[in-house]
Amino acid sequence: MKTSNLSQFIVRACVQISVVVCVVGAVTMAPAHAKTPKNIIILFADGAAATQMEFGRYSSELLRSQPFAVTSEVMRHGTLGLMSTLSNNAYVTDSAAAASAMSTGHKANNGAISTTPQGASPATLMQDARSRGKKIGLVTTSMLYDASPAAFSVNAKSRRDYEFIVNQYLALAPEVLLGGGADYFKLDGIDGGKRKDERDMVEAFRKKGYAVATQTADLAAPLPPRKTKLLGLFADEAMDFAIDRDAVKQPSLAEMTTSALKVLSAASNKGFVLFVENENTDTAGHENDVGALMHELWAFDDAVKVALAYRKKHPDTLVIVTGDHETGGFTPTSAQRPKGSTGPGSSLVVNADMLRVIGGFKMSFQAISDRLDEKAKAGADKEAVMAYLAELVQKNLPGMQMDDEVRALILNKQAPSLNIRHHQLPPTPAPALGLMVARQTGFYWGTTGHSSEPATVSAIGPGAALFKGYQDNTDFARNLRRLLGAKPKSTTTR
Ligand SMILES: [Zn+2]
Repeated sequence: MKTSNLSQFIVRACVQISVVVCVVGAVTMAPAHAKTPKNIIILFADGAAATQMEFGRYSSELLRSQPFAVTSEVMRHGTLGLMSTLSNNAYVTDSAAAASAMSTGHKANNGAISTTPQGASPATLMQDARSRGKKIGLVTTSMLYDASPAAFSVNAKSRRDYEFIVNQYLALAPEVLLGGGADYFKLDGIDGGKRKDERDMVEAFRKKGYAVATQTADLAAPLPPRKTKLLGLFADEAMDFAIDRDAVKQPSLAEMTTSALKVLSAASNKGFVLFVENENTDTAGHENDVGALMHELWAFDDAVKVALAYRKKHPDTLVIVTGDHETGGFTPTSAQRPKGSTGPGSSLVVNADMLRVIGGFKMSFQAISDRLDEKAKAGADKEAVMAYLAELVQKNLPGMQMDDEVRALILNKQAPSLNIRHHQLPPTPAPALGLMVARQTGFYWGTTGHSSEPATVSAIGPGAALFKGYQDNTDFARNLRRLLGAKPKSTTTR
């Protein structure tokens, strides 16, 4: 039955039976009648699907004695759905195609930024929000011009059109832009800048009324007089993993979310749409780094808690928690220890003891790789670098032993298998370290790429019912359009 026919049926039935019964029936049967929210906050854990969220819950409750708001609040008390994630040209999507579908409602090829395979540029979520008079904001731990925030906002043929993407941000002028990626805002060769077109975009944003933040303390201060917008650039490329983060230099995702909400909620009659992404949940998956992933899930959940606190004060706010796809084929499991490895017994199963080992980790694999690079650049030979690696593992991944196979893989810069390969070039020890940790804790990975696991979407607030059940990722965009309401008549349609 179509929605319109269903409504007519309900109206007709109302004449015949009790009005009270019908009101209840209409509310539960027709999500199309859902109230339109004034504000929409999308919290986006890149590369995190149900397995990661469940790991966030298990580890947060056990190791930091905190409920995981994603599961305990949004999924439990809001609505929960699954989204298929395939792109136009692949069963396993990349972040660009997934975010394009979720933003525009059109499937894109992997690598495209809200551009269809035919070359069309359908309106993005942020463009449509803007055309309805809403304030808009982008927050990410990645480069601001990276695939997900870009596809939710602008159009580009390739996710690598960095300068073009930043230029379009200037034209769209979101009230809030917070994240990394200062390199493509600054001139080539100056202070880490990489722009070849001789446009100083930091200066261009300043001229357009933006206050510019470069460290955590800048976010605490109110916007200066005559400034109504905020650009925060806290790293030249992606921001650091939460497990490695220098809290003075780089704000947490929760701190950025708090700051974004402050700017967006100031004098906003028509409300706002805010996109908050943790990209590091994806990067940790690519690195097969369970310790880094755990801290990223907690950092993400802290941002979700900020959004839920805002919603408590402003109930006309819809909070959506979602992601684009799964990364790493993350598989906590039972396993057999390899012959000759250390540790008690030959079989293992993931349990609280194993989790506590992960809880003792103090550094990401990426940071360990960076330290080794520095050592090699300072002139250390292969053996000295390997000795330093053993020292770093002992200090920062306590309890872990490097077996001979893992040591040989790292020494020869080899990947453990064809699908557990080097995510970064030149090769880093990350995939071998991932295998080392898996063999001793049971936190295994199936790939260093993405997988086809459906993404979860959970929502709480007005309009949440639209996201219930099993949908395609293009439905996410269509649902949001219904909640944004009709365009004002004066606006030209694209
Ligand atoms: Zn990825």
